[in-house]
Amino acid sequence: METVTSSSVGTAVATRIACQDPATLESLGSVAVMGEEEVRAVVVRARKLQPDWGRTSFAERRAVLREVLDEVVANQEDICRLAVRDSGKTMVDAALGEIFPVCEKLRYVIANGEKDLRPEPRASGFLMHKKAWVEYAPLGVVGVIAPWNFPFHNIFCPTVPALFAGNAVVVKVSEHTSWSAEPLVDIFRRVLARRGHNPDLVQFVTGYGATGAALVRSGVDKIFFTGSPENGAKVMKTASENLTPVVLELGGKDPMIICDDADLNHAASQAMLGVFTACGQMCVGAERIYVFDGVYDAFLQEVTKRVTALRQGPPLEGTVDVGAMTMPTQLDILDRLVADAVAKGARVVTGGKRRAGLKGQFFEPTILADVTHEMDITQKEQFGPIMVVMRVAGEDEAVAKANDCPYGLGSSVFSKDTARAEKIARRVRAGMSVVNDYGLAYMIQALPFGGVGTSGFGKINGKEGLRACCNEKAMVSDRVRLSNGVAVYPIRQATFGVAKNVIEVIYARGLGNKLKAAVGAARNIVSVARAK
Ligand code: NAD
Repeated sequence: METVTSSSVGTAVATRIACQDPATLESLGSVAVMGEEEVRAVVVRARKLQPDWGRTSFAERRAVLREVLDEVVANQEDICRLAVRDSGKTMVDAALGEIFPVCEKLRYVIANGEKDLRPEPRASGFLMHKKAWVEYAPLGVVGVIAPWNFPFHNIFCPTVPALFAGNAVVVKVSEHTSWSAEPLVDIFRRVLARRGHNPDLVQFVTGYGATGAALVRSGVDKIFFTGSPENGAKVMKTASENLTPVVLELGGKDPMIICDDADLNHAASQAMLGVFTACGQMCVGAERIYVFDGVYDAFLQEVTKRVTALRQGPPLEGTVDVGAMTMPTQLDILDRLVADAVAKGARVVTGGKRRAGLKGQFFEPTILADVTHEMDITQKEQFGPIMVVMRVAGEDEAVAKANDCPYGLGSSVFSKDTARAEKIARRVRAGMSVVNDYGLAYMIQALPFGGVGTSGFGKINGKEGLRACCNEKAMVSDRVRLSNGVAVYPIRQATFGVAKNVIEVIYARGLGNKLKAAVGAARNIVSVARAK
Protein backbone atom coordinates (compact mmCIF):
# COMPACT_ATOMS: atom_id res chain seq x y z
CA MET A 1 0.00 0.00 0.00
CA GLU A 2 1.48 3.34 -1.03
CA THR A 3 0.19 6.72 -2.12
CA VAL A 4 0.35 7.10 -5.90
CA THR A 5 -0.92 10.64 -6.51
CA SER A 6 -1.63 13.59 -4.33
CA SER A 7 -3.48 16.82 -5.02
CA SER A 8 -6.26 18.72 -3.30
CA VAL A 9 -9.40 19.94 -5.03
CA GLY A 10 -11.35 22.02 -2.53
CA THR A 11 -12.18 19.68 0.33
CA ALA A 12 -12.14 16.59 -1.90
CA VAL A 13 -8.66 15.13 -1.76
CA ALA A 14 -7.75 13.48 -5.08
CA THR A 15 -5.17 11.11 -3.62
CA ARG A 16 -5.35 7.44 -4.51
CA ILE A 17 -4.16 4.45 -2.52
CA ALA A 18 -2.19 1.77 -4.38
CA CYS A 19 -3.15 -1.77 -3.38
CA GLN A 20 -0.78 -4.73 -3.49
CA ASP A 21 -0.65 -8.42 -2.63
CA PRO A 22 1.58 -8.61 0.48
CA ALA A 23 2.74 -12.14 -0.39
CA THR A 24 3.97 -11.32 -3.91
CA LEU A 25 4.13 -7.49 -3.86
CA GLU A 26 2.12 -7.61 -7.10
CA SER A 27 0.08 -4.46 -7.76
CA LEU A 28 -3.69 -4.88 -7.46
CA GLY A 29 -4.69 -1.40 -8.66
CA SER A 30 -5.77 1.56 -6.59
CA VAL A 31 -8.73 3.09 -4.75
CA ALA A 32 -9.75 6.70 -4.09
CA VAL A 33 -9.06 8.60 -0.90
CA MET A 34 -12.44 10.07 -0.11
CA GLY A 35 -12.68 13.52 1.45
CA GLU A 36 -15.00 15.01 4.04
CA GLU A 37 -17.70 16.10 1.54
CA GLU A 38 -17.80 12.75 -0.25
CA VAL A 39 -18.16 10.88 3.04
CA ARG A 40 -20.90 13.24 4.16
CA ALA A 41 -22.79 12.72 0.88
CA VAL A 42 -22.66 8.95 1.37
CA VAL A 43 -24.08 9.31 4.89
CA VAL A 44 -26.81 11.71 3.71
CA ARG A 45 -27.86 9.16 1.10
CA ALA A 46 -27.91 6.38 3.71
CA ARG A 47 -30.01 8.52 6.04
CA LYS A 48 -32.60 9.14 3.31
CA LEU A 49 -33.00 5.42 2.67
CA GLN A 50 -32.98 4.15 6.24
CA PRO A 51 -36.57 4.95 7.37
CA ASP A 52 -38.11 2.60 4.78
CA TRP A 53 -35.71 -0.16 5.75
CA GLY A 54 -36.37 0.52 9.45
CA ARG A 55 -40.08 -0.19 8.83
CA THR A 56 -39.49 -3.61 7.23
CA SER A 57 -40.55 -6.70 9.16
CA PHE A 58 -38.08 -8.99 10.89
CA ALA A 59 -39.23 -11.68 8.45
CA GLU A 60 -38.03 -9.58 5.53
CA ARG A 61 -34.70 -8.73 7.18
CA ARG A 62 -34.25 -12.42 7.93
CA ALA A 63 -34.94 -13.25 4.29
CA VAL A 64 -32.27 -10.72 3.21
CA LEU A 65 -29.70 -12.22 5.59
CA ARG A 66 -30.60 -15.77 4.52
CA GLU A 67 -29.84 -14.80 0.91
CA VAL A 68 -26.59 -13.14 2.02
CA LEU A 69 -25.66 -16.40 3.78
CA ASP A 70 -26.50 -18.36 0.62
CA GLU A 71 -24.22 -16.06 -1.40
CA VAL A 72 -21.38 -16.41 1.10
CA VAL A 73 -21.60 -20.21 1.15
CA ALA A 74 -21.86 -20.46 -2.64
CA ASN A 75 -18.97 -18.04 -3.25
CA GLN A 76 -16.72 -18.91 -0.31
CA GLU A 77 -13.74 -19.86 -2.45
CA ASP A 78 -13.83 -16.56 -4.37
CA ILE A 79 -14.26 -14.61 -1.12
CA CYS A 80 -11.28 -16.43 0.42
CA ARG A 81 -9.19 -15.68 -2.67
CA LEU A 82 -10.02 -11.95 -2.38
CA ALA A 83 -9.07 -11.94 1.31
CA VAL A 84 -5.87 -13.90 0.59
CA ARG A 85 -4.72 -11.52 -2.13
CA ASP A 86 -5.51 -8.44 -0.07
CA SER A 87 -4.11 -9.57 3.30
CA GLY A 88 -1.56 -12.35 2.62
CA LYS A 89 -3.23 -15.02 4.74
CA THR A 90 -3.68 -18.63 3.57
CA MET A 91 -6.92 -20.02 2.10
CA VAL A 92 -7.43 -22.08 5.28
CA ASP A 93 -6.88 -18.96 7.44
CA ALA A 94 -9.54 -17.24 5.34
CA ALA A 95 -11.97 -20.17 5.55
CA LEU A 96 -11.60 -20.46 9.34
CA GLY A 97 -11.12 -16.80 10.25
CA GLU A 98 -13.27 -14.99 7.70
CA ILE A 99 -15.99 -17.28 6.28
CA PHE A 100 -16.76 -19.50 9.26
CA PRO A 101 -17.43 -16.77 11.86
CA VAL A 102 -19.42 -14.68 9.39
CA CYS A 103 -21.62 -17.68 8.45
CA GLU A 104 -22.13 -18.39 12.15
CA LYS A 105 -22.97 -14.75 12.81
CA LEU A 106 -25.53 -14.80 9.99
CA ARG A 107 -27.00 -18.07 11.28
CA TYR A 108 -27.20 -16.67 14.83
CA VAL A 109 -28.89 -13.45 13.78
CA ILE A 110 -31.33 -15.22 11.44
CA ALA A 111 -32.29 -17.68 14.19
CA ASN A 112 -32.25 -15.35 17.21
CA GLY A 113 -32.30 -11.74 16.01
CA GLU A 114 -36.05 -11.24 16.33
CA LYS A 115 -36.13 -12.81 19.81
CA ASP A 116 -33.22 -10.57 20.91
CA LEU A 117 -34.86 -7.40 19.58
CA ARG A 118 -38.48 -8.17 20.43
CA PRO A 119 -40.03 -5.65 22.88
CA GLU A 120 -39.09 -6.81 26.37
CA PRO A 121 -41.51 -6.37 29.29
CA ARG A 122 -40.06 -4.93 32.49
CA ALA A 123 -41.56 -4.78 35.97
CA SER A 124 -43.27 -1.45 36.68
CA GLY A 125 -42.56 -1.61 40.44
CA PHE A 126 -45.06 0.13 42.70
CA LEU A 127 -46.68 1.77 39.64
CA MET A 128 -48.89 -1.25 39.17
CA HIS A 129 -51.42 0.58 37.00
CA LYS A 130 -48.71 1.11 34.36
CA LYS A 131 -47.01 -1.38 32.08
CA ALA A 132 -43.37 -0.93 31.09
CA TRP A 133 -41.22 -2.41 28.36
CA VAL A 134 -38.11 -1.80 26.26
CA GLU A 135 -38.30 -1.39 22.49
CA TYR A 136 -35.24 -1.87 20.32
CA ALA A 137 -35.58 0.82 17.66
CA PRO A 138 -33.04 1.34 14.85
CA LEU A 139 -30.45 4.05 15.50
CA GLY A 140 -30.47 5.34 11.90
CA VAL A 141 -27.09 5.26 10.17
CA VAL A 142 -24.35 3.15 11.73
CA GLY A 143 -20.73 3.95 10.85
CA VAL A 144 -18.18 1.13 10.89
CA ILE A 145 -14.41 1.72 10.86
CA ALA A 146 -12.52 -1.45 10.04
CA PRO A 147 -8.92 -2.68 10.35
CA TRP A 148 -6.99 -4.75 7.81
CA ASN A 149 -6.53 -8.15 9.39
CA PHE A 150 -9.74 -9.83 8.12
CA PRO A 151 -10.98 -7.84 5.10
CA PHE A 152 -14.20 -9.85 4.61
CA HIS A 153 -15.05 -10.52 8.24
CA ASN A 154 -14.32 -6.95 9.36
CA ILE A 155 -16.97 -5.62 6.94
CA PHE A 156 -19.58 -8.31 7.52
CA CYS A 157 -19.33 -8.81 11.28
CA PRO A 158 -20.61 -5.34 12.26
CA THR A 159 -22.84 -4.86 9.19
CA VAL A 160 -25.00 -7.97 9.74
CA PRO A 161 -26.43 -6.99 13.17
CA ALA A 162 -26.64 -3.29 12.27
CA LEU A 163 -28.66 -4.05 9.14
CA PHE A 164 -30.86 -6.59 10.93
CA ALA A 165 -31.64 -3.98 13.61
CA GLY A 166 -33.04 -1.72 10.86
CA ASN A 167 -30.09 0.60 10.24
CA ALA A 168 -28.31 1.75 7.11
CA VAL A 169 -24.55 1.09 7.28
CA VAL A 170 -21.49 2.96 6.01
CA VAL A 171 -18.18 1.09 6.33
CA LYS A 172 -14.78 2.79 6.20
CA VAL A 173 -12.51 -0.05 5.08
CA SER A 174 -8.82 -0.19 5.94
CA GLU A 175 -6.39 1.58 3.63
CA HIS A 176 -4.32 -1.63 3.70
CA THR A 177 -7.08 -3.91 2.39
CA SER A 178 -9.29 -1.65 0.25
CA TRP A 179 -8.93 -3.61 -2.96
CA SER A 180 -11.38 -6.34 -1.97
CA ALA A 181 -13.99 -4.00 -0.47
CA GLU A 182 -16.11 -3.46 -3.57
CA PRO A 183 -16.79 -7.11 -4.47
CA LEU A 184 -17.32 -7.96 -0.79
CA VAL A 185 -19.78 -5.14 -0.03
CA ASP A 186 -21.47 -5.99 -3.31
CA ILE A 187 -22.77 -9.21 -1.76
CA PHE A 188 -25.09 -7.18 0.50
CA ARG A 189 -25.93 -4.76 -2.28
CA ARG A 190 -26.85 -7.53 -4.76
CA VAL A 191 -29.16 -9.20 -2.28
CA LEU A 192 -30.80 -5.94 -1.19
CA ALA A 193 -31.47 -4.97 -4.82
CA ARG A 194 -32.80 -8.43 -5.67
CA ARG A 195 -35.31 -8.19 -2.83
CA GLY A 196 -36.47 -4.72 -3.88
CA HIS A 197 -34.49 -2.61 -1.39
CA ASN A 198 -32.08 0.15 -2.20
CA PRO A 199 -28.53 -1.28 -2.31
CA ASP A 200 -27.17 1.96 -0.84
CA LEU A 201 -28.39 0.77 2.55
CA VAL A 202 -24.86 -0.69 2.72
CA GLN A 203 -22.08 1.55 1.37
CA PHE A 204 -18.35 1.78 1.93
CA VAL A 205 -15.82 4.59 1.84
CA THR A 206 -12.08 4.39 1.22
CA GLY A 207 -9.16 6.44 2.48
CA TYR A 208 -6.76 6.90 5.36
CA GLY A 209 -7.42 7.90 8.97
CA ALA A 210 -8.75 11.30 7.87
CA THR A 211 -11.54 9.55 5.94
CA GLY A 212 -12.36 7.57 9.08
CA ALA A 213 -12.42 10.81 11.07
CA ALA A 214 -14.74 12.32 8.42
CA LEU A 215 -17.13 9.41 8.96
CA VAL A 216 -17.06 10.00 12.72
CA ARG A 217 -17.89 13.70 12.13
CA SER A 218 -20.49 12.99 9.42
CA GLY A 219 -23.49 12.80 11.74
CA VAL A 220 -23.77 8.99 11.89
CA ASP A 221 -25.73 7.77 14.91
CA LYS A 222 -23.05 5.44 16.26
CA ILE A 223 -19.53 4.36 15.41
CA PHE A 224 -18.27 0.79 15.70
CA PHE A 225 -14.49 1.17 15.59
CA THR A 226 -12.14 -1.80 15.40
CA GLY A 227 -8.46 -0.92 15.40
CA SER A 228 -5.55 0.14 17.53
CA PRO A 229 -5.92 1.71 20.99
CA GLU A 230 -4.13 4.88 19.77
CA ASN A 231 -6.65 5.45 16.98
CA GLY A 232 -9.51 4.35 19.23
CA ALA A 233 -8.64 7.26 21.51
CA LYS A 234 -8.61 9.63 18.50
CA VAL A 235 -12.00 8.33 17.36
CA MET A 236 -13.41 8.89 20.84
CA LYS A 237 -12.08 12.43 20.86
CA THR A 238 -13.56 13.24 17.44
CA ALA A 239 -16.85 11.56 18.39
CA SER A 240 -17.06 13.75 21.50
CA GLU A 241 -17.46 16.83 19.24
CA ASN A 242 -20.97 15.65 18.25
CA LEU A 243 -21.54 13.36 21.24
CA THR A 244 -21.63 10.41 18.86
CA PRO A 245 -21.62 7.12 20.78
CA VAL A 246 -18.79 4.69 20.06
CA VAL A 247 -18.02 1.02 20.55
CA LEU A 248 -14.27 0.43 20.62
CA GLU A 249 -12.92 -3.03 19.77
CA LEU A 250 -9.21 -2.50 20.23
CA GLY A 251 -6.21 -4.75 20.46
CA GLY A 252 -5.41 -7.75 22.60
CA LYS A 253 -2.49 -9.67 24.10
CA ASP A 254 -4.32 -12.79 25.10
CA PRO A 255 -2.80 -15.03 27.75
CA MET A 256 -2.94 -18.83 27.40
CA ILE A 257 -2.34 -20.67 30.68
CA ILE A 258 -1.20 -24.28 30.45
CA CYS A 259 -1.42 -26.10 33.78
CA ASP A 260 0.72 -29.07 34.80
CA ASP A 261 -2.26 -31.44 34.36
CA ALA A 262 -3.17 -30.20 30.84
CA ASP A 263 -3.49 -32.48 27.82
CA LEU A 264 -0.22 -31.24 26.32
CA ASN A 265 -0.88 -32.54 22.85
CA HIS A 266 -4.20 -30.68 22.67
CA ALA A 267 -2.74 -27.55 24.30
CA ALA A 268 0.07 -27.52 21.72
CA SER A 269 -2.45 -27.79 18.84
CA GLN A 270 -4.48 -24.91 20.27
CA ALA A 271 -1.35 -22.82 20.85
CA MET A 272 -0.39 -23.35 17.19
CA LEU A 273 -3.84 -22.17 16.12
CA GLY A 274 -3.75 -19.18 18.47
CA VAL A 275 -0.32 -18.03 17.33
CA PHE A 276 -0.10 -18.85 13.63
CA THR A 277 -3.63 -18.35 12.26
CA ALA A 278 -3.49 -15.40 9.86
CA CYS A 279 0.22 -15.15 10.70
CA GLY A 280 -0.72 -14.02 14.21
CA GLN A 281 -2.48 -10.90 12.95
CA MET A 282 -5.50 -11.33 15.19
CA CYS A 283 -6.80 -9.22 18.03
CA VAL A 284 -7.40 -12.48 19.94
CA GLY A 285 -4.02 -13.99 19.04
CA ALA A 286 -2.49 -16.10 21.82
CA GLU A 287 0.37 -13.67 22.41
CA ARG A 288 1.50 -14.88 25.85
CA ILE A 289 1.76 -18.53 26.78
CA TYR A 290 2.31 -19.28 30.47
CA VAL A 291 3.34 -22.88 31.05
CA PHE A 292 3.59 -24.47 34.49
CA ASP A 293 7.11 -25.45 35.50
CA GLY A 294 6.38 -29.19 35.55
CA VAL A 295 5.40 -29.35 31.86
CA TYR A 296 7.38 -26.40 30.46
CA ASP A 297 10.14 -28.43 28.80
CA ALA A 298 7.75 -31.04 27.40
CA PHE A 299 5.49 -28.32 25.96
CA LEU A 300 8.41 -26.49 24.41
CA GLN A 301 9.71 -29.68 22.87
CA GLU A 302 6.29 -30.47 21.37
CA VAL A 303 5.70 -27.02 19.85
CA THR A 304 9.28 -26.81 18.56
CA LYS A 305 8.70 -30.01 16.58
CA ARG A 306 5.53 -28.53 15.10
CA VAL A 307 6.76 -24.98 14.42
CA THR A 308 9.96 -26.06 12.67
CA ALA A 309 7.81 -28.14 10.29
CA LEU A 310 5.65 -25.18 9.18
CA ARG A 311 5.86 -24.26 5.50
CA GLN A 312 5.66 -20.59 4.57
CA GLY A 313 5.25 -18.77 1.27
CA PRO A 314 2.81 -17.03 -1.10
CA PRO A 315 -0.49 -18.75 -0.24
CA LEU A 316 -1.81 -18.95 -3.80
CA GLU A 317 1.37 -20.52 -5.22
CA GLY A 318 1.25 -23.84 -3.37
CA THR A 319 0.15 -25.42 -0.09
CA VAL A 320 1.65 -23.52 2.81
CA ASP A 321 0.85 -23.37 6.52
CA VAL A 322 1.71 -19.73 7.16
CA GLY A 323 1.28 -16.70 4.91
CA ALA A 324 2.58 -13.14 4.82
CA MET A 325 2.36 -10.03 6.98
CA THR A 326 -0.25 -7.64 5.60
CA MET A 327 1.64 -4.46 6.49
CA PRO A 328 5.35 -3.85 5.87
CA THR A 329 5.63 -1.77 9.05
CA GLN A 330 4.52 -4.80 11.06
CA LEU A 331 7.85 -6.48 10.17
CA ASP A 332 9.74 -3.60 11.79
CA ILE A 333 7.67 -3.98 14.96
CA LEU A 334 8.47 -7.72 15.12
CA ASP A 335 12.21 -7.08 14.56
CA ARG A 336 12.21 -4.57 17.42
CA LEU A 337 10.27 -6.81 19.84
CA VAL A 338 12.52 -9.83 19.18
CA ALA A 339 15.70 -7.75 19.55
CA ASP A 340 14.45 -6.31 22.86
CA ALA A 341 13.49 -9.76 24.20
CA VAL A 342 16.82 -11.35 23.17
CA ALA A 343 18.78 -8.45 24.70
CA LYS A 344 16.95 -9.11 27.99
CA GLY A 345 17.62 -12.85 28.01
CA ALA A 346 14.96 -14.55 25.85
CA ARG A 347 15.96 -17.55 23.73
CA VAL A 348 15.05 -17.81 20.03
CA VAL A 349 14.20 -21.50 19.70
CA THR A 350 13.39 -21.17 16.01
CA GLY A 351 12.78 -18.34 13.52
CA GLY A 352 13.16 -14.83 14.87
CA LYS A 353 13.73 -12.92 11.65
CA ARG A 354 12.31 -11.96 8.25
CA ARG A 355 12.28 -14.82 5.79
CA ALA A 356 15.06 -14.48 3.27
CA GLY A 357 14.54 -15.62 -0.32
CA LEU A 358 10.91 -14.62 -0.62
CA LYS A 359 9.79 -11.45 -2.37
CA GLY A 360 6.80 -10.72 -0.14
CA GLN A 361 6.46 -9.54 3.46
CA PHE A 362 7.27 -12.68 5.45
CA PHE A 363 8.40 -13.21 9.04
CA GLU A 364 9.52 -16.71 10.03
CA PRO A 365 7.31 -18.73 12.36
CA THR A 366 9.10 -18.13 15.66
CA ILE A 367 9.33 -19.48 19.19
CA LEU A 368 10.72 -17.22 21.90
CA ALA A 369 11.33 -19.12 25.13
CA ASP A 370 12.28 -18.03 28.66
CA VAL A 371 10.50 -14.73 28.16
CA THR A 372 9.97 -12.51 31.22
CA HIS A 373 7.76 -9.54 31.97
CA GLU A 374 10.70 -7.15 31.72
CA MET A 375 10.49 -7.61 27.94
CA ASP A 376 8.33 -5.38 25.73
CA ILE A 377 6.85 -8.40 23.96
CA THR A 378 4.77 -9.19 27.07
CA GLN A 379 3.19 -5.72 27.07
CA LYS A 380 3.01 -4.47 23.46
CA GLU A 381 0.83 -6.09 20.82
CA GLN A 382 3.05 -8.04 18.38
CA PHE A 383 0.43 -9.11 15.80
CA GLY A 384 2.86 -11.61 14.32
CA PRO A 385 3.84 -15.32 14.11
CA ILE A 386 5.82 -15.39 17.36
CA MET A 387 5.02 -17.92 20.08
CA VAL A 388 6.02 -16.29 23.36
CA VAL A 389 6.54 -18.96 26.04
CA MET A 390 6.97 -18.19 29.73
CA ARG A 391 7.62 -20.47 32.72
CA VAL A 392 5.39 -20.05 35.80
CA ALA A 393 5.51 -21.79 39.18
CA GLY A 394 1.76 -22.33 39.49
CA GLU A 395 -1.75 -20.84 39.45
CA ASP A 396 -1.07 -17.65 41.38
CA GLU A 397 1.94 -16.66 39.30
CA ALA A 398 0.10 -17.54 36.07
CA VAL A 399 -2.87 -15.34 37.01
CA ALA A 400 -0.68 -12.48 38.27
CA LYS A 401 1.34 -12.48 35.02
CA ALA A 402 -1.74 -12.90 32.82
CA ASN A 403 -3.19 -9.81 34.51
CA ASP A 404 0.06 -7.84 34.31
CA CYS A 405 -0.80 -6.31 30.92
CA PRO A 406 -2.85 -3.28 29.85
CA TYR A 407 -4.94 -5.35 27.41
CA GLY A 408 -7.86 -7.57 28.43
CA LEU A 409 -9.53 -9.18 25.43
CA GLY A 410 -9.52 -13.01 25.26
CA SER A 411 -7.81 -15.69 27.35
CA SER A 412 -7.66 -19.45 27.72
CA VAL A 413 -6.77 -22.02 30.39
CA PHE A 414 -5.83 -25.67 29.84
CA SER A 415 -6.26 -28.33 32.53
CA LYS A 416 -7.83 -31.80 32.61
CA ASP A 417 -9.54 -30.63 35.83
CA THR A 418 -12.29 -28.46 34.35
CA ALA A 419 -13.35 -26.97 37.69
CA ARG A 420 -9.74 -25.93 38.38
CA ALA A 421 -9.44 -24.37 34.92
CA GLU A 422 -12.70 -22.46 35.35
CA LYS A 423 -11.53 -21.14 38.72
CA ILE A 424 -8.31 -19.86 37.15
CA ALA A 425 -10.20 -18.44 34.14
CA ARG A 426 -12.50 -16.47 36.45
CA ARG A 427 -9.45 -14.73 37.96
CA VAL A 428 -8.11 -13.56 34.58
CA ARG A 429 -8.98 -9.96 33.73
CA ALA A 430 -10.43 -10.34 30.24
CA GLY A 431 -13.60 -9.93 28.19
CA MET A 432 -13.63 -13.63 27.28
CA SER A 433 -12.14 -16.80 28.83
CA VAL A 434 -12.18 -20.23 27.22
CA VAL A 435 -11.34 -23.48 29.00
CA ASN A 436 -9.42 -26.15 27.06
CA ASP A 437 -9.71 -24.48 23.66
CA TYR A 438 -8.52 -21.44 21.80
CA GLY A 439 -10.78 -18.67 20.47
CA LEU A 440 -14.13 -20.45 20.72
CA ALA A 441 -15.78 -17.54 22.52
CA TYR A 442 -15.94 -15.86 19.14
CA MET A 443 -17.46 -18.83 17.38
CA ILE A 444 -20.28 -18.97 19.91
CA GLN A 445 -22.13 -16.00 18.52
CA ALA A 446 -24.67 -16.00 21.33
CA LEU A 447 -21.89 -14.68 23.60
CA PRO A 448 -20.99 -11.00 23.82
CA PHE A 449 -17.50 -10.17 22.50
CA GLY A 450 -15.43 -7.23 23.69
CA GLY A 451 -12.60 -6.29 25.99
CA VAL A 452 -11.64 -4.42 29.12
CA GLY A 453 -8.77 -2.00 29.74
CA THR A 454 -6.78 -1.08 26.64
CA SER A 455 -8.83 -3.61 24.65
CA GLY A 456 -11.74 -1.15 24.56
CA PHE A 457 -15.38 -1.22 25.62
CA GLY A 458 -18.82 -2.07 24.34
CA LYS A 459 -19.89 -5.40 22.90
CA ILE A 460 -20.38 -6.98 19.55
CA ASN A 461 -22.03 -10.41 19.06
CA GLY A 462 -24.88 -11.94 21.03
CA LYS A 463 -27.99 -10.04 22.03
CA GLU A 464 -25.71 -7.39 23.53
CA GLY A 465 -24.20 -6.75 20.09
CA LEU A 466 -27.58 -6.60 18.36
CA ARG A 467 -28.97 -4.28 21.02
CA ALA A 468 -25.88 -2.08 20.69
CA CYS A 469 -27.16 -1.28 17.19
CA CYS A 470 -30.43 0.04 18.65
CA ASN A 471 -31.95 2.85 20.60
CA GLU A 472 -32.99 0.90 23.67
CA LYS A 473 -36.16 2.86 24.17
CA ALA A 474 -38.06 2.73 27.47
CA MET A 475 -41.84 2.65 26.97
CA VAL A 476 -44.53 3.19 29.62
CA SER A 477 -48.29 2.98 29.05
CA ASP A 478 -51.53 2.21 30.90
CA ARG A 479 -52.21 -1.21 32.30
CA VAL A 480 -55.29 0.22 34.00
CA ARG A 481 -56.25 3.78 33.18
CA LEU A 482 -56.90 5.75 36.37
CA SER A 483 -59.36 8.58 35.92
CA ASN A 484 -57.56 11.00 38.27
CA GLY A 485 -53.83 11.49 37.96
CA VAL A 486 -51.62 12.76 40.77
CA ALA A 487 -52.02 16.55 40.95
CA VAL A 488 -49.06 18.00 42.87
CA TYR A 489 -49.67 21.68 42.06
CA PRO A 490 -50.50 24.03 43.64
CA ILE A 491 -48.32 23.06 46.57
CA ARG A 492 -50.08 23.20 49.95
CA GLN A 493 -48.64 23.14 53.44
CA ALA A 494 -49.40 19.41 53.80
CA THR A 495 -48.08 18.40 50.33
CA PHE A 496 -44.60 17.59 51.61
CA GLY A 497 -46.18 15.48 54.37
CA VAL A 498 -48.08 13.45 51.76
CA ALA A 499 -44.86 12.81 49.80
CA LYS A 500 -42.97 11.83 52.96
CA ASN A 501 -45.72 9.46 54.11
CA VAL A 502 -46.04 7.80 50.70
CA ILE A 503 -42.28 7.16 50.62
CA GLU A 504 -42.52 5.60 54.10
CA VAL A 505 -45.49 3.44 53.08
CA ILE A 506 -43.49 2.01 50.19
CA TYR A 507 -39.97 1.80 51.64
CA ALA A 508 -40.08 1.80 55.46
CA ARG A 509 -39.31 -1.46 57.28
CA GLY A 510 -42.08 -3.28 59.15
CA LEU A 511 -45.85 -3.36 58.88
CA GLY A 512 -46.29 -1.08 61.89
CA ASN A 513 -44.25 1.71 60.33
CA LYS A 514 -46.06 1.33 57.01
CA LEU A 515 -49.51 1.49 58.70
CA LYS A 516 -48.49 4.55 60.70
CA ALA A 517 -47.31 6.23 57.47
CA ALA A 518 -50.57 5.28 55.70
CA VAL A 519 -52.62 6.93 58.43
CA GLY A 520 -50.40 10.05 58.20
CA ALA A 521 -50.77 10.09 54.43
CA ALA A 522 -54.57 9.91 54.67
CA ARG A 523 -54.59 12.79 57.15
CA ASN A 524 -52.31 14.92 54.96
CA ILE A 525 -54.32 14.16 51.80
CA VAL A 526 -57.51 15.36 53.55
CA SER A 527 -55.68 18.49 54.64
CA VAL A 528 -54.45 19.17 51.07
CA ALA A 529 -57.97 18.62 49.68
CA ARG A 530 -59.49 21.04 52.22
CA ALA A 531 -56.93 23.71 51.35
CA LYS A 532 -58.12 23.84 47.71
P1 NAD B 1 -5.73 1.17 12.93
O1 NAD B 1 -6.17 1.77 14.21
O2 NAD B 1 -4.46 1.63 12.33
O3 NAD B 1 -6.82 1.40 11.78
C1 NAD B 1 -8.16 0.92 11.91
C2 NAD B 1 -9.06 1.79 11.04
O4 NAD B 1 -9.15 3.09 11.62
C3 NAD B 1 -8.55 2.01 9.61
O5 NAD B 1 -9.65 1.93 8.72
C4 NAD B 1 -7.98 3.43 9.67
O6 NAD B 1 -7.99 4.09 8.45
C5 NAD B 1 -8.92 4.09 10.66
N1 NAD B 1 -8.38 5.27 11.34
C6 NAD B 1 -7.09 5.55 11.61
N2 NAD B 1 -7.01 6.74 12.26
C7 NAD B 1 -8.28 7.19 12.41
C8 NAD B 1 -8.84 8.35 13.01
N3 NAD B 1 -8.09 9.28 13.60
N4 NAD B 1 -10.20 8.50 12.99
C9 NAD B 1 -10.97 7.55 12.42
N5 NAD B 1 -10.49 6.44 11.83
C10 NAD B 1 -9.15 6.25 11.83
O7 NAD B 1 -5.73 -0.39 13.16
P2 NAD B 1 -5.20 -1.48 12.17
O8 NAD B 1 -3.71 -1.38 12.18
O9 NAD B 1 -5.93 -1.41 10.88
O10 NAD B 1 -5.65 -2.82 12.89
C11 NAD B 1 -4.90 -3.43 13.87
C12 NAD B 1 -5.46 -3.15 15.24
O11 NAD B 1 -6.83 -3.53 15.27
C13 NAD B 1 -4.79 -3.97 16.27
O12 NAD B 1 -4.56 -3.24 17.44
C14 NAD B 1 -5.80 -5.09 16.53
O13 NAD B 1 -5.66 -5.76 17.73
C15 NAD B 1 -7.07 -4.36 16.40
N6 NAD B 1 -8.18 -5.28 16.15
C16 NAD B 1 -9.10 -5.46 17.15
C17 NAD B 1 -10.15 -6.34 16.98
C18 NAD B 1 -11.19 -6.56 18.04
O14 NAD B 1 -12.26 -7.05 17.74
N7 NAD B 1 -10.96 -6.20 19.28
C19 NAD B 1 -10.28 -7.03 15.77
C20 NAD B 1 -9.32 -6.82 14.79
C21 NAD B 1 -8.28 -5.92 14.99
